[in-house]
Amino acid sequence: MKIKLYGVRGSCPTPVGNEEYRENLKNVLDLAYSEWKTNPGKFSVDNFLESRPSYYSTLVGGNTTCVSVTSKTGDQVVIDCGTGMRAFGNDLLKEGFLKEKKDINILITHTHWDHIQGWPFFKLAYIPGIKINFYSCIENLKERLERQQHPENFPLAFSVMASEKNFHLQKVMESFKIGSLEITPFYLTHPGTCIGYKITEDGKTFLFCTDVEFSESNIGYLNEIKPLLKGAKLIIMDAQYNADEARAKIGWGHTSVEYAVRSAEMIEAEILALTHHEPDNRDATIYKNYTDSLNFVAKESQLKVVIAKEGMIFDL
Ligand SMILES: [Zn+2]
Ligand SMILES: [Zn+2]
Repeated sequence: MKIKLYGVRGSCPTPVGNEEYRENLKNVLDLAYSEWKTNPGKFSVDNFLESRPSYYSTLVGGNTTCVSVTSKTGDQVVIDCGTGMRAFGNDLLKEGFLKEKKDINILITHTHWDHIQGWPFFKLAYIPGIKINFYSCIENLKERLERQQHPENFPLAFSVMASEKNFHLQKVMESFKIGSLEITPFYLTHPGTCIGYKITEDGKTFLFCTDVEFSESNIGYLNEIKPLLKGAKLIIMDAQYNADEARAKIGWGHTSVEYAVRSAEMIEAEILALTHHEPDNRDATIYKNYTDSLNFVAKESQLKVVIAKEGMIFDL
Protein backbone atom coordinates (compact mmCIF):
# COMPACT_ATOMS: atom_id res chain seq x y z
CA MET A 1 0.00 0.00 0.00
CA LYS A 2 1.35 3.41 -0.98
CA ILE A 3 0.29 6.51 0.91
CA LYS A 4 0.85 9.99 -0.49
CA LEU A 5 0.20 13.23 1.38
CA TYR A 6 -1.53 15.99 -0.57
CA GLY A 7 -2.69 18.15 2.35
CA VAL A 8 -1.22 18.32 5.85
CA ARG A 9 -2.31 21.73 7.14
CA GLY A 10 -5.03 22.05 9.73
CA SER A 11 -8.10 24.23 9.79
CA CYS A 12 -7.27 26.79 7.06
CA PRO A 13 -5.25 26.67 3.81
CA THR A 14 -1.95 28.43 4.46
CA PRO A 15 0.13 29.70 1.53
CA VAL A 16 3.70 30.77 2.37
CA GLY A 17 3.87 34.53 2.91
CA ASN A 18 6.49 36.76 1.29
CA GLU A 19 8.18 37.48 4.60
CA GLU A 20 8.69 33.78 5.34
CA TYR A 21 9.74 33.07 1.75
CA ARG A 22 12.37 35.83 1.84
CA GLU A 23 13.68 34.67 5.21
CA ASN A 24 14.07 31.09 3.93
CA LEU A 25 15.69 32.31 0.73
CA LYS A 26 18.18 34.43 2.66
CA ASN A 27 19.12 31.52 4.95
CA VAL A 28 19.76 29.25 1.97
CA LEU A 29 21.70 31.85 0.00
CA ASP A 30 23.87 32.75 3.03
CA LEU A 31 24.74 29.09 3.59
CA ALA A 32 25.37 28.43 -0.09
CA TYR A 33 27.58 31.51 -0.38
CA SER A 34 29.76 30.50 2.56
CA GLU A 35 30.10 26.96 1.19
CA TRP A 36 30.93 28.24 -2.30
CA LYS A 37 33.60 30.58 -0.85
CA THR A 38 35.45 27.70 0.81
CA ASN A 39 35.69 25.69 -2.41
CA PRO A 40 34.29 27.47 -5.50
CA GLY A 41 35.57 24.84 -7.96
CA LYS A 42 33.68 21.97 -6.32
CA PHE A 43 30.42 23.74 -5.48
CA SER A 44 27.24 22.33 -7.03
CA VAL A 45 23.75 23.63 -6.23
CA ASP A 46 22.21 20.13 -6.33
CA ASN A 47 24.86 18.64 -4.03
CA PHE A 48 24.49 21.58 -1.66
CA LEU A 49 20.72 21.08 -1.39
CA GLU A 50 21.06 17.29 -1.05
CA SER A 51 23.56 17.64 1.79
CA ARG A 52 21.33 19.96 3.84
CA PRO A 53 18.37 18.95 6.02
CA SER A 54 15.16 18.89 3.95
CA TYR A 55 14.07 22.02 5.83
CA TYR A 56 16.21 24.06 3.41
CA SER A 57 14.78 22.68 0.20
CA THR A 58 11.16 21.68 0.94
CA LEU A 59 8.10 23.26 2.51
CA VAL A 60 5.75 21.57 4.97
CA GLY A 61 2.89 22.66 2.71
CA GLY A 62 -0.23 24.75 3.12
CA ASN A 63 -3.04 22.59 1.72
CA THR A 64 -5.62 21.10 4.05
CA THR A 65 -6.23 17.39 4.63
CA CYS A 66 -6.10 15.02 1.68
CA VAL A 67 -4.20 11.72 1.60
CA SER A 68 -4.22 9.14 -1.18
CA VAL A 69 -3.88 5.41 -0.59
CA THR A 70 -3.08 3.10 -3.49
CA SER A 71 -3.41 -0.64 -2.97
CA LYS A 72 -1.00 -3.21 -4.44
CA THR A 73 -3.60 -3.89 -7.15
CA GLY A 74 -3.96 -0.18 -7.98
CA ASP A 75 -7.24 0.54 -6.17
CA GLN A 76 -7.43 4.24 -5.53
CA VAL A 77 -8.67 5.51 -2.17
CA VAL A 78 -8.45 9.08 -0.94
CA ILE A 79 -9.06 10.26 2.60
CA ASP A 80 -10.80 13.63 2.86
CA CYS A 81 -11.31 16.38 0.34
CA GLY A 82 -9.30 19.27 1.80
CA THR A 83 -7.65 21.71 -0.59
CA GLY A 84 -4.92 19.15 -1.33
CA MET A 85 -7.53 17.31 -3.40
CA ARG A 86 -7.05 19.70 -6.32
CA ALA A 87 -3.43 18.55 -6.77
CA PHE A 88 -4.45 14.90 -6.23
CA GLY A 89 -6.93 15.18 -9.14
CA ASN A 90 -4.35 16.89 -11.32
CA ASP A 91 -1.85 14.09 -10.59
CA LEU A 92 -4.41 11.42 -11.56
CA LEU A 93 -5.05 13.22 -14.85
CA LYS A 94 -1.30 13.52 -15.52
CA GLU A 95 -0.81 9.82 -14.75
CA GLY A 96 -3.37 8.83 -17.40
CA PHE A 97 -6.21 7.96 -15.04
CA LEU A 98 -8.83 8.62 -17.74
CA LYS A 99 -7.55 5.68 -19.81
CA GLU A 100 -7.85 3.30 -16.85
CA LYS A 101 -11.43 4.26 -15.94
CA LYS A 102 -11.05 2.98 -12.38
CA ASP A 103 -13.36 4.00 -9.55
CA ILE A 104 -12.29 6.72 -7.16
CA ASN A 105 -13.11 5.87 -3.56
CA ILE A 106 -13.33 8.66 -1.00
CA LEU A 107 -13.30 8.16 2.78
CA ILE A 108 -14.62 11.12 4.75
CA THR A 109 -13.57 11.73 8.36
CA HIS A 110 -15.99 14.62 8.95
CA THR A 111 -17.20 17.67 7.06
CA HIS A 112 -15.48 20.62 8.71
CA TRP A 113 -14.46 23.03 5.92
CA ASP A 114 -10.81 22.05 5.86
CA HIS A 115 -11.82 18.47 4.99
CA ILE A 116 -14.24 19.17 2.12
CA GLN A 117 -13.13 22.48 0.58
CA GLY A 118 -11.10 20.85 -2.19
CA TRP A 119 -14.00 18.76 -3.53
CA PRO A 120 -15.42 21.45 -5.89
CA PHE A 121 -11.90 21.77 -7.39
CA PHE A 122 -11.51 18.04 -8.09
CA LYS A 123 -11.60 18.11 -11.90
CA LEU A 124 -12.39 14.42 -12.29
CA ALA A 125 -15.73 14.97 -10.56
CA TYR A 126 -16.88 17.00 -13.57
CA ILE A 127 -16.09 14.26 -16.11
CA PRO A 128 -18.94 11.97 -17.25
CA GLY A 129 -18.19 8.25 -16.95
CA ILE A 130 -16.00 8.65 -13.85
CA LYS A 131 -17.42 6.73 -10.90
CA ILE A 132 -16.85 8.17 -7.45
CA ASN A 133 -17.78 6.23 -4.31
CA PHE A 134 -18.06 8.08 -1.01
CA TYR A 135 -17.67 6.03 2.18
CA SER A 136 -18.48 7.67 5.51
CA CYS A 137 -20.42 7.30 8.74
CA ILE A 138 -22.42 10.48 7.94
CA GLU A 139 -26.05 9.88 6.99
CA ASN A 140 -26.55 13.16 5.12
CA LEU A 141 -23.11 13.49 3.51
CA LYS A 142 -24.57 14.24 0.06
CA GLU A 143 -26.69 17.03 1.49
CA ARG A 144 -23.68 18.52 3.28
CA LEU A 145 -21.63 18.57 0.06
CA GLU A 146 -24.55 20.08 -1.86
CA ARG A 147 -24.80 22.81 0.78
CA GLN A 148 -21.13 23.68 0.25
CA GLN A 149 -21.96 24.36 -3.41
CA HIS A 150 -25.10 26.42 -2.80
CA PRO A 151 -25.06 29.29 -5.37
CA GLU A 152 -24.30 31.73 -2.55
CA ASN A 153 -21.10 29.82 -1.80
CA PHE A 154 -19.84 28.47 -5.14
CA PRO A 155 -20.65 29.07 -8.83
CA LEU A 156 -21.28 25.43 -9.78
CA ALA A 157 -23.82 23.21 -8.05
CA PHE A 158 -23.00 19.66 -6.88
CA SER A 159 -25.63 18.43 -9.37
CA VAL A 160 -23.71 19.77 -12.41
CA MET A 161 -20.66 17.66 -11.58
CA ALA A 162 -21.13 15.04 -14.30
CA SER A 163 -19.38 12.08 -12.67
CA GLU A 164 -21.43 9.26 -11.16
CA LYS A 165 -21.46 9.64 -7.39
CA ASN A 166 -22.49 6.93 -4.95
CA PHE A 167 -22.82 7.25 -1.19
CA HIS A 168 -22.11 4.31 1.10
CA LEU A 169 -23.02 4.64 4.75
CA GLN A 170 -20.64 2.68 6.98
CA LYS A 171 -20.86 1.69 10.62
CA VAL A 172 -18.22 2.49 13.21
CA MET A 173 -16.06 -0.55 14.11
CA GLU A 174 -17.45 -2.57 11.18
CA SER A 175 -14.89 -3.40 8.50
CA PHE A 176 -15.50 -3.18 4.77
CA LYS A 177 -13.33 -3.85 1.74
CA ILE A 178 -12.19 -1.77 -1.20
CA GLY A 179 -10.22 -4.16 -3.42
CA SER A 180 -7.45 -5.63 -1.27
CA LEU A 181 -7.76 -2.90 1.39
CA GLU A 182 -9.66 -3.72 4.56
CA ILE A 183 -11.02 -0.56 6.15
CA THR A 184 -12.41 -0.03 9.67
CA PRO A 185 -13.87 3.28 10.83
CA PHE A 186 -13.56 4.27 14.52
CA TYR A 187 -14.65 7.26 16.59
CA LEU A 188 -12.36 10.18 17.37
CA THR A 189 -12.92 12.86 20.02
CA HIS A 190 -13.66 16.06 18.09
CA PRO A 191 -16.44 18.69 18.17
CA GLY A 192 -19.29 17.29 16.08
CA THR A 193 -17.45 13.93 16.11
CA CYS A 194 -14.95 12.66 13.61
CA ILE A 195 -14.00 9.27 12.22
CA GLY A 196 -10.55 7.72 12.10
CA TYR A 197 -9.72 4.95 9.62
CA LYS A 198 -7.71 1.79 9.97
CA ILE A 199 -6.57 0.49 6.58
CA THR A 200 -4.89 -2.91 6.33
CA GLU A 201 -3.34 -4.78 3.41
CA ASP A 202 -1.13 -7.89 3.64
CA GLY A 203 -1.00 -7.59 7.43
CA LYS A 204 0.34 -4.03 7.35
CA THR A 205 -1.78 -1.35 8.96
CA PHE A 206 -2.04 2.36 8.34
CA LEU A 207 -4.06 4.53 10.75
CA PHE A 208 -5.45 7.90 9.81
CA CYS A 209 -6.23 9.79 12.97
CA THR A 210 -7.20 13.44 12.54
CA ASP A 211 -9.05 15.51 13.70
CA VAL A 212 -8.85 14.39 17.31
CA GLU A 213 -8.24 15.88 20.75
CA PHE A 214 -6.33 13.59 23.07
CA SER A 215 -5.17 14.91 26.43
CA GLU A 216 -4.56 13.62 29.94
CA SER A 217 -8.32 13.47 30.55
CA ASN A 218 -9.33 11.25 27.63
CA ILE A 219 -6.29 9.39 26.29
CA GLY A 220 -7.64 6.35 28.16
CA TYR A 221 -10.11 5.92 25.26
CA LEU A 222 -7.18 4.53 23.27
CA ASN A 223 -7.01 1.61 25.69
CA GLU A 224 -10.61 0.77 24.79
CA ILE A 225 -9.84 0.59 21.06
CA LYS A 226 -6.25 -0.63 21.38
CA PRO A 227 -7.09 -4.14 20.16
CA LEU A 228 -8.16 -2.55 16.85
CA LEU A 229 -5.24 -0.14 16.48
CA LYS A 230 -2.32 -2.06 18.00
CA GLY A 231 0.87 -2.53 16.02
CA ALA A 232 0.21 -0.13 13.14
CA LYS A 233 3.13 0.38 10.80
CA LEU A 234 2.16 4.04 10.31
CA ILE A 235 -0.13 6.44 12.12
CA ILE A 236 -0.78 9.87 10.64
CA MET A 237 -2.01 11.84 13.62
CA ASP A 238 -3.31 15.25 14.57
CA ALA A 239 -0.52 17.18 16.33
CA GLN A 240 -1.67 20.73 15.75
CA TYR A 241 -0.48 22.26 19.01
CA ASN A 242 2.48 22.62 21.31
CA ALA A 243 1.75 22.25 25.03
CA ASP A 244 0.87 25.96 25.56
CA GLU A 245 -1.49 26.07 22.57
CA ALA A 246 -3.18 22.86 23.72
CA ARG A 247 -3.75 24.33 27.19
CA ALA A 248 -5.25 27.51 25.68
CA LYS A 249 -7.48 25.60 23.26
CA ILE A 250 -9.10 22.88 25.31
CA GLY A 251 -12.22 21.67 23.51
CA TRP A 252 -11.10 22.89 20.05
CA GLY A 253 -10.63 19.31 18.93
CA HIS A 254 -6.88 18.95 18.35
CA THR A 255 -3.94 17.23 20.01
CA SER A 256 -0.54 18.45 21.20
CA VAL A 257 2.70 16.92 19.89
CA GLU A 258 3.20 15.38 23.36
CA TYR A 259 -0.10 13.52 23.28
CA ALA A 260 0.37 12.53 19.65
CA VAL A 261 3.59 10.78 20.74
CA ARG A 262 1.91 9.23 23.79
CA SER A 263 -0.99 8.00 21.63
CA ALA A 264 1.32 6.40 19.07
CA GLU A 265 3.30 4.71 21.84
CA MET A 266 0.16 3.44 23.57
CA ILE A 267 -0.90 1.60 20.45
CA GLU A 268 2.70 0.52 19.69
CA ALA A 269 2.89 2.15 16.27
CA GLU A 270 6.18 2.07 14.32
CA ILE A 271 6.04 5.46 12.60
CA LEU A 272 4.15 8.56 13.70
CA ALA A 273 3.62 11.34 11.14
CA LEU A 274 2.57 14.59 12.81
CA THR A 275 -0.11 16.35 10.79
CA HIS A 276 -2.91 18.97 10.78
CA HIS A 277 -0.30 21.69 11.37
CA GLU A 278 -1.50 24.90 12.98
CA PRO A 279 -2.07 27.51 10.21
CA ASP A 280 -0.52 30.28 12.35
CA ASN A 281 2.73 28.35 12.60
CA ARG A 282 5.50 28.90 10.11
CA ASP A 283 7.62 25.95 9.06
CA ALA A 284 10.31 26.91 11.58
CA THR A 285 7.76 26.60 14.41
CA ILE A 286 6.47 23.29 13.07
CA TYR A 287 10.07 21.98 13.07
CA LYS A 288 10.52 23.29 16.62
CA ASN A 289 7.34 21.44 17.72
CA TYR A 290 8.69 18.33 15.99
CA THR A 291 12.03 18.61 17.84
CA ASP A 292 10.12 19.05 21.10
CA SER A 293 8.01 15.98 20.30
CA LEU A 294 11.18 13.84 20.28
CA ASN A 295 11.67 14.66 23.99
CA PHE A 296 8.40 12.86 24.72
CA VAL A 297 9.47 9.60 23.04
CA ALA A 298 10.12 7.09 25.81
CA LYS A 299 13.72 5.78 26.13
CA GLU A 300 12.77 2.17 25.45
CA SER A 301 10.42 3.12 22.60
CA GLN A 302 11.15 2.23 18.97
CA LEU A 303 8.77 4.91 17.68
CA LYS A 304 10.01 6.96 14.74
CA VAL A 305 8.48 10.44 14.50
CA VAL A 306 8.35 12.49 11.27
CA ILE A 307 6.69 15.70 10.14
CA ALA A 308 3.92 15.10 7.61
CA LYS A 309 4.77 17.18 4.55
CA GLU A 310 3.00 17.69 1.26
CA GLY A 311 4.26 15.26 -1.39
CA MET A 312 5.62 12.77 1.16
CA ILE A 313 5.16 9.10 0.23
CA PHE A 314 5.08 6.09 2.56
CA ASP A 315 5.44 2.66 1.01
CA LEU A 316 4.20 0.06 3.50
ZN1 LIG B 1 -9.43 19.70 10.39
ZN1 LIG C 1 -12.42 19.23 12.36
